[in-house]
Order: sequence, then structure tokens, then C-alpha cells
Amino acid sequence: MIAGAGLAGLRTAEELRSAGFAGSITMIGAEPRPPYDRPPLTKKFMVGELDDTTLAADPAALGLDLRLAEAATGLGEAVLRTGRGEYPFDALVVATGASPIGLPGNGRQRFLRTLDDALELRSALHQGTRLTVVGAGWIGAELATAAARRGCRVTVVEAASTPVAAALGTAVGAWMVPWYAEAGVELLLRQPVESVEPGGLALPGGGWLAADQIVTAVGVRPQTGWLAGSGVALANGVAVDERLRASVPGVFAVGDCAAFVSRRYGARLRVEHWDCALHAPEVVAANILGGDEIYDPVPYFWSEQFGRMVQYAGHHTGADRLIWRGDPAGREWTACWLSGTGPGDGAGPGDGAGTGDAERLVALLAVGRPRDLLQGRRLIAAGLPVDPARLADPAIAVRDTAGGGGLCRWPRIRATPVPAQCGGMCSAAIRRSPERPGCPVSPAPAAPGVSR
Ligand SMILES: Cc1cc2nc3c(=O)[nH]c(=O)nc-3n(C[C@H](O)[C@H](O)[C@H](O)COP(=O)(O)OP(=O)(O)OC[C@H]3O[C@@H](n4cnc5c(N)ncnc54)[C@H](O)[C@@H]3O)c2cc1C
Repeated sequence: MIAGAGLAGLRTAEELRSAGFAGSITMIGAEPRPPYDRPPLTKKFMVGELDDTTLAADPAALGLDLRLAEAATGLGEAVLRTGRGEYPFDALVVATGASPIGLPGNGRQRFLRTLDDALELRSALHQGTRLTVVGAGWIGAELATAAARRGCRVTVVEAASTPVAAALGTAVGAWMVPWYAEAGVELLLRQPVESVEPGGLALPGGGWLAADQIVTAVGVRPQTGWLAGSGVALANGVAVDERLRASVPGVFAVGDCAAFVSRRYGARLRVEHWDCALHAPEVVAANILGGDEIYDPVPYFWSEQFGRMVQYAGHHTGADRLIWRGDPAGREWTACWLSGTGPGDGAGPGDGAGTGDAERLVALLAVGRPRDLLQGRRLIAAGLPVDPARLADPAIAVRDTAGGGGLCRWPRIRATPVPAQCGGMCSAAIRRSPERPGCPVSPAPAAPGVSR
């Protein structure tokens, strides 16, 4: 049984079949549509360059019993309950994704999560429409970009002091502030919203911001309410171990709803990125079939905003040291986060014990520098110490900053064909087993100019 017919659910079915599973697979999805891709919804779809984002998959060829417009409502002893019946299972994969967080108030607030949300919103955006987006995160920035291109008068309201402050911190977010004005988008920072009312936003202290259309983009919550009381442990998502197994035997979780234990980062992570929904199902399928695989990705996502390709890999905290490659006031730069200022412990592949500081790259954000992203992601995966001074020099390739500035010492890994939607940087390139077939969406070349 697979609960949730999004990317992660579909990929689970595909991986089970490609691993030779011949048993029955039933996938139920709350939406009336077959699995489709979400990233284009804020991008090409919103500007009218694309109308159909359905994922390329043939349920019949997969031997998949796909039941749409049917939501999981509960879980019993090895049985999944829905509004229409009960499904006994040997294994259940929870892939119910996430849903947007709303604001108080009686006014109409739109969201941008589903294809139907996007269809309705797109048809409401015209030349001169006053669109207010609450939240300058990834979705807010991408929607503002698309709406400005459609000729809307766009205002983005953000409670923090910079865009994407929660994800990247204000030191990096501050450099994105001018991007809004350049695109003709008004950005109101440090501006909390009290409620959404008919015709506009109520602001603290009696303030008012009029709008024709309001989109709330302040984050999502994992769709796990239906598991309440089921015995499946929840921790900001379905709490799964390194093997993506939930607390109830036979139950697994993947994608936006799964909070997995990351060995690499020593923390429980819930990653709301396309790449995770694409690849975690490989591990789930293998483990359902008796394998013992660990999911330990270097998380990756991309965002296309204000004419820029923004890519992030890794995971960092406020305690990690930020260094820059290039001028963040320009169009191409990379922010790198380093951890581990303690003495080398001999544990890393290139780390000599007792050799002094062993700073390692834990995350990077590349703006218009896809090669930095690709090489940096490999460097993070390899866990090699880096030379911070060399890393700060944008003329030196990221791979040549590893282990004292010598040549790259980690094995060269064959790249996998990647879809346009993943921003030209698919994690298949760094997986243990690069032999897996390509992504389920139509293949396209990697980002221009990226050499591996
Ligand atoms: C507009 C938009 C743009 C994005 N852009 C990017 C991007 O540029 N880069 C990037 O890395 N990521 C991006 N993402 C994130 C990426 O799309 C998600 O990480 C990915 O879709 C997660 O896949 P999933 O299958 O886990 O969840 P989902 O895609 O949410 O699928 C889960 C499905 O389960 C269904 N469901 C929910 N509850 C139930 C239930 N009780 N029973 C049955 N079915 C249920 C839902 O209706 C949904 O169809 C974007 C997301 C959105 C919304």
C-alpha cells in the first residue's frame, strides 16, 4: 500500500517494480489527478509556458492499482483505512506530503501547493492585478517572479528582516533584497500580518494593505494528521529511522512527510525538496524487499527566481562559519558554510589525525554557479577537510580546495541523466549506486556549462 500519489509515492511504486517486486501495489491519492510535478507550478506553469506537469508514468504498465480522490483516514493493525474502505497490507509507505499553513482571517487567501491551486491562481492574475504574497521564502519569491512577468503589481510581505531568513539566515538573505526591486516587486520586510480580510491584509497596530489577490506562502506542515492515534510516532512528520522505517513494523515514510534520522548530520531532518522525494523511494523499496539500505543524502534543492538559478546543497546551522566565493552584490556568487574547527580526528577520508583544524564544507548556496554546486555537493558527500582560503577564491575550482588544495581525492562518479525540473543537479550523481535508471520526468541536459 502506498498512501499519497505524489512524486514520492509514484517513485516508490517504480522502484519496487524495477527491483523485481511482483506482488500487488495499491496507491491511493487524495487529489483527483494522477501524480504530477509541483516545481513547475511556480515557474513555467505560472507564466503560461506549460500546462501539463503530469509525471511520465503508466500505472497499467507498472501494475499499479491507482485510486484517486481517495484519502487515507486511519491506520489499524496492518490495515489502511480510507473514506471508501479498508486495505490490508504487508507494507505501507506513507507519502502524503505536506500542506500549506494558513493565516487567520475571513478574507480569501490562496495557496500554491496543488495543480488546481495553480490553475485558479494563474487565471486570476492579469496585467495590473494587485497581488500580495505573504512570505518571502522560496515559493513566495518564485511566485513574485512569475506574477511580475505577467504584469501584476506585486507586493511581498515578510515578517523577518530578509527573504529566506529561516532557511539561509539573514546574512545571506540580505543579498537577495535588491532582487525584488530590480524585478519591480515591492518587498515589505519586518512586516508581520495579523489576518487576511476581504480586500486586504490587516497589519498590527491597525495597518491595512489592500490587495486584489492574496497568496499565503509561509510554509507547510507534514500531512500526517490522519495517523493520529495509530501508534506511528510523529516528530514534525512521520518519525523514521535511517532506513526510513516508522515505529510500527511494516510502515515506511518518504518525501515531504518523512522526518528521517540523518547519520551525516546527526539530526532528524525533514526535507521538503523534490530531490528527496525522487530518491528516498529507492531506499524504501530496497528495504521493503528485505534490503538493509540507509538513506543518507546531501540534501539538494534549486529555486528559479528573479532571473537567477539558486541552488543549495547540504545542511547547516547558525553555528557554522559562512564564507563567500565571489561578490554577493553581483549576479554569480556562492555562500559556503564550514563546520568543524576542532582538531582533525582521523575519521574523515582525507583527514590526518592531529593535523590541526579540519574545517569541512557542510552546505553551500550557489547563485548562477552550478559547477560550484556540483563540486561542493561531492565535497560534502566525501566529508573531506577544505582549505577555507582557497575556497574563498572563486577562481579556484571547489574540488581543488579539498584536503590541502591537491587534486580531488574522492572517486569519480558517473553522472546520471537529469531532468530539467531538478535544476540540472540530480543527487543520483553522488549515490552509492549510480546504476539506477534516470529520473521519471522527461530527461534533459544538465544546466548549461556544467562539466562534471
Ligand atoms: C509550487 C511548488 C514549487 C516547488 N518548487 C520546488 C523547486 O523548485 N525545487 C525543489 O527542490 N522543490 C520544489 N518544491 C517541493 C517539491 O515539489 C516537493 O518536495 C515534492 O513535491 C514532495 O513530493 P511528495 O510526494 O513527498 O509530496 P506531495 O507532492 O505533496 O504529494 C503527496 C500527495 O499525497 C496526497 N495526500 C495527502 N494526504 C493524503 C491522504 N490522507 N491520503 C491520500 N493522499 C494524501 C496529496 O494530496 C498529494 O497529492 C516545490 C513545491 C511546490 C508546491
